[in-house]
Amino acid sequence: MSQFDYDLFVIGAGSGGVRAARTAAGLGVNVAIAENKYFGGTCVNVGCVPKKLFVYASEYSDAFKAAQGFGWGVSKPAFDWSVLMQQKNTEINRLQGIYENLLNNTDVTIFQGQAQLLDANTVQVNGQSYRCERILIATGGWPSVPEITGKEHIVTSNEIFALEKLPERILIVGGGYIAVEFAGILNGLGVETVLSYRGEQILRGFDQDIQEFIHDEMIKKGIDIQLNSQVKAISKEQEHYQVSFADGNLLETDLILYATGRTPNTQALGLEQLGVIMDSKGAIKVNQNYQTNLQSVYALGDVTNRVNLTPVATAEAMALVNHLYKDQPIEMDYQNIPTAVFTQPNIATVGMTEKEAREEFDDIAVFRSEFKAMKHTLSGIDERVMMKMLVRKSTDQVLGLHMVGENAGEIIQGMAVAIKAGATKAVFDATIGIHPTAAEEFVTMR
Ligand SMILES: Cc1cc2nc3c(=O)[nH]c(=O)nc-3n(C[C@H](O)[C@H](O)[C@H](O)COP(=O)(O)OP(=O)(O)OC[C@H]3O[C@@H](n4cnc5c(N)ncnc54)[C@H](O)[C@@H]3O)c2cc1C
Repeated sequence: MSQFDYDLFVIGAGSGGVRAARTAAGLGVNVAIAENKYFGGTCVNVGCVPKKLFVYASEYSDAFKAAQGFGWGVSKPAFDWSVLMQQKNTEINRLQGIYENLLNNTDVTIFQGQAQLLDANTVQVNGQSYRCERILIATGGWPSVPEITGKEHIVTSNEIFALEKLPERILIVGGGYIAVEFAGILNGLGVETVLSYRGEQILRGFDQDIQEFIHDEMIKKGIDIQLNSQVKAISKEQEHYQVSFADGNLLETDLILYATGRTPNTQALGLEQLGVIMDSKGAIKVNQNYQTNLQSVYALGDVTNRVNLTPVATAEAMALVNHLYKDQPIEMDYQNIPTAVFTQPNIATVGMTEKEAREEFDDIAVFRSEFKAMKHTLSGIDERVMMKMLVRKSTDQVLGLHMVGENAGEIIQGMAVAIKAGATKAVFDATIGIHPTAAEEFVTMR
């Protein structure tokens, strides 16, 4: 008889936790998982999936307009938020069921409840304690909101997915990808949208050309972007909110969404008492094998606050399970992780920004192209595409690709394989384009 109830106890059934639990169980490991809210975690319930569904919904407003340029005699039909919400909820419920089934089908023991650590080998959930050889913390993150007067009036990305009524006007506070994506979604759905960001330019950390280009495209779509803007206080009037800014400006709005960052979910896990090392934001510190300073306790995904993306959490989970139960070394590569921002038009990027490339090498060639997409020659929509390639002259290696344009995520995902394989500019040049596409520009840049 084993001295343990479980070989592996996973806390959190989100992207990373579910992947780790079911992969380990598939290898014959005796696994339990605890989830206190919803199967599938942030991505499925209040993240990537519902957000992308909302992005699709919002894109129809331009599509109806564009259709007229191609001869369709349509006028913009009315939009019904309740239909979108109902459809979205049905899909999310379906996905939650799939996640639960994935766990059941691999014989993972499921606990629905809040879990915490009692010691380095004991998890408590629903009043019961379980001895575990190893514990994996995959509890993700949670929206964080600064302390401001009137904080109680705001919503975060969690609540926006459950809104009963679409507001007429919204103020979105933040400049990261979640803030700009919601600005695009709500603007596309016909909401008068103001985006307030305290920094110099939105999407900090992205290539400067991308930042400036999408800023201008968003303004063309009708979003009011306020930079160097700081909310001071919010008060509730009868039917609306009054927002005062540090520069003395006032704004009347119907809803305020804060997308000002996320904090790792480590508050109620009992980690401080056990001496688990965390950073100042509460992110769990791990070594290259996702092991905390306690030998039997591991952590991955957003709770470690490194690259907070679903495919990263799932890749980390696979790497950890293969390491623990198949004796493989962890070779997770954090270089060249492609990523997209689902603004209108989309952004996608892989590899270095121009600033990063110039900091590291002194022989960088920049290829940049900007044009009107073929579709918009007839659509009547004033939307442009921008593509950028960074090449190291001495080796000809392509170091970074950046794009703003329709389906940028779909295009850059393919290009990321070439970057990962170390493709040179000569390889791009020798590749025949697919005509007529926007993507062919990447193989014809001279
Ligand atoms: C609005 C939004 C949009 C996003 N869009 C994208 C995107 O387009 N592409 C992308 O790649 N990523 C996106 N992300 C990020 C992505 O959702 C996360 O990177 C991913 O979900 C992280 O997975 P995880 O397993 O680390 O944590 P999570 O998916 O957050 O899962 C953690 C789980 O742990 C549970 N939990 C927490 N504490 C406990 C406890 N004590 N006991 C039991 N259970 C607990 C939580 O309820 C949750 O279900 C988005 C995030 C947000 C918020």
